[in-house]
Amino acid sequence: SGVSVLLGGSISRALQQMSNSMIIDEKVLNDCLNEITRALLQADVQFKLVRDMQTNIKKIVNLDDLAAGHNKRKIIQQAIFNELCKILDPGKPAFTLKKGKSSVVMFVGLQGSGKTTTCTKYAYYHQKKGWKPALVCVDTFRAGAFDQLKQNSTKAKIPFYGSYTESDPVRIAVEGVGNLLCIGQATFDQAQAFKQSVAVGAMIVTKMDGHAKGGGALSAVAATKSPVIFIGTGEHMDEFEVFNVKPFVSRLLA
Ligand code: GDP
Repeated sequence: SGVSVLLGGSISRALQQMSNSMIIDEKVLNDCLNEITRALLQADVQFKLVRDMQTNIKKIVNLDDLAAGHNKRKIIQQAIFNELCKILDPGKPAFTLKKGKSSVVMFVGLQGSGKTTTCTKYAYYHQKKGWKPALVCVDTFRAGAFDQLKQNSTKAKIPFYGSYTESDPVRIAVEGVGNLLCIGQATFDQAQAFKQSVAVGAMIVTKMDGHAKGGGALSAVAATKSPVIFIGTGEHMDEFEVFNVKPFVSRLLA
């Protein structure tokens, strides 16, 4: 979240500085763009993305061509807004659940990033919409992961599966999904495929509450070329929101 704060802070500061300038000339625009570039690079956004963004903005905001009456500030701000929206839109639809079919969704992420919490939120969210979710704990690495998921599932009244003794996550996935959803071979094939590689279908950005402003989402989309579908905004089950690019970018620039 430190990175996110930096990003939101720097971008809004850069825009503010530009707003304070009496005249918007090439230098003011360049200073503003350089500040934003720095913020994005520090947030680990891929260099090419940042460079493309800067080039695009300069192309859109051609100061010489803008008549005196034009509100340059507005045009520059709009261009930055549009470019950030573009970064967050990988141009690929998110993985979605299919009605009348069983879907298996695997959560991957760093230790402590919020998988256990977020898969419960995801299941709870869909349960409220009439789906029949079930949770399987295949985190055999972290001690206590199963108990935590069991506790969450019980609280949300969601069926769950896990094992204290089995150490192979693929076996648990196959047994768990088989037990809870009864779909057999297809699941096994999927689980085996998981073992070989992970194709990211969609992302959830956690811990967006507090002082975090969420610049990490930009990097995540750039890295995986997959869209963000939800954000986590707290530790509780219902602190979970559908992600929308435009309101998110507005907040980022606020
Ligand atoms: P896992 O190791 O990936 O399964 O991570 P956990 O689900 O155990 O989460 C690690 C910690 O982050 C726990 O204390 C969670 O309560 C907390 N956490 C998860 N998501 C959020 C969130 O959106 N906001 C806040 N504030 N805390 C969160």
